[in-house]
Amino acid sequence: MIPKTRIVNLPVYEPGKPIEDVKRELGLTEVVKLASNENPFGSSPRVKEAIVAELDQLPIYPDGACLELRSALASFLKVGEQELVFGNGSDEIVMLIVRAYLEAGTNTVMATPTFSVYKTNATIEGAEVIEVPCVNGAHDLDAMLARINDQTRVVWVCNPNNPTGLMIEEEKLIRFLDQVPDQTLVVLDEAYVEYVKSEAFPKSLDLLKKYKNIIVLRTFSKIYGIAALRVGYGVAAEDIIDKLNRVREPFNVNHLAQKAALAALADQEFVLQCKEANAEGLAQVYAELDTLGVPYYRSETNFVYIMPERDSKEIFQEMLKQGVIIRAFPQAIRVTIGSKEQNKKMLAALKSVLAPARM
Ligand SMILES: *Cc1c(COP(=O)(O)O)cnc(C)c1O
Repeated sequence: MIPKTRIVNLPVYEPGKPIEDVKRELGLTEVVKLASNENPFGSSPRVKEAIVAELDQLPIYPDGACLELRSALASFLKVGEQELVFGNGSDEIVMLIVRAYLEAGTNTVMATPTFSVYKTNATIEGAEVIEVPCVNGAHDLDAMLARINDQTRVVWVCNPNNPTGLMIEEEKLIRFLDQVPDQTLVVLDEAYVEYVKSEAFPKSLDLLKKYKNIIVLRTFSKIYGIAALRVGYGVAAEDIIDKLNRVREPFNVNHLAQKAALAALADQEFVLQCKEANAEGLAQVYAELDTLGVPYYRSETNFVYIMPERDSKEIFQEMLKQGVIIRAFPQAIRVTIGSKEQNKKMLAALKSVLAPARM
């Protein structure tokens, strides 16, 4: 068989190691996974109730338009119902954007390091991927602008950026948007927006009114805690939503996921509690990193990008042996903020690797 040439050497996405695998391989009883930015506090109790109430509906196809969720989310966000598109995770919205806007002969501009799904999808579609190095962990918007040309159809702005945790302030984003050509789509991926504390974070949904070439991506996988169910959404002008709907599969968000997202959205108190607990967890992690004297970026998210001098793959392996799963990047590690106890365990493992007690 002859596959498409450009997919043959595509890297296969490596998810964070599953807890059960690590337990089995290493014979450990307790393993902490702080690798995929999941919510350590789970999801609102209303979510489970909502799912159980729907278990008789399994033979029926889901509502392909997500009408109930659409209506609730539109009023919550104060946007039009026709300005929303739902996906099987926001990962799927990324795929829809790429399907609808990129092809061979076009290009797309993104930061590096950033969320890897943009590049993979663009490569599958045959577009040229232009990567612009971050400066001190932040998008270099001027350098990105300089790389945009007539063939640039999509620019990716991950805000705050995964894996570095840093955000772009509203003022800087506006200056950028003012210079991006009208025919280039700007994707603002805000998967962590609910964790952001800074007042300077862009009010992106307001920006949609002025800039017709923006799509804002958000997800129920992070603070809402239902990553397993896969619900993400995009907010954009109707014209963009229309294009995405043309390449979308008819029943892309399943019924239980729609009901769960609806229940999760209704419990903003849970969201707020998680946000506060995360802020405390960040402070806990920073304090230990400061003591260890290891460099890191101060995060607007539920993860921290840490840049120890030691090889990151080695740190990953050593921490794994102690039952702590984190994420290794070429020059850094990324740890998700967990519960207080999980953070404690993670920090103890990190400390033992970076500053082993002298004999
Ligand atoms: C986790 C994450 C997503 C994907 O979320 P899903 O809705 O679970 O597909 C998208 N973008 C960024 C930056 C993320 O970190």
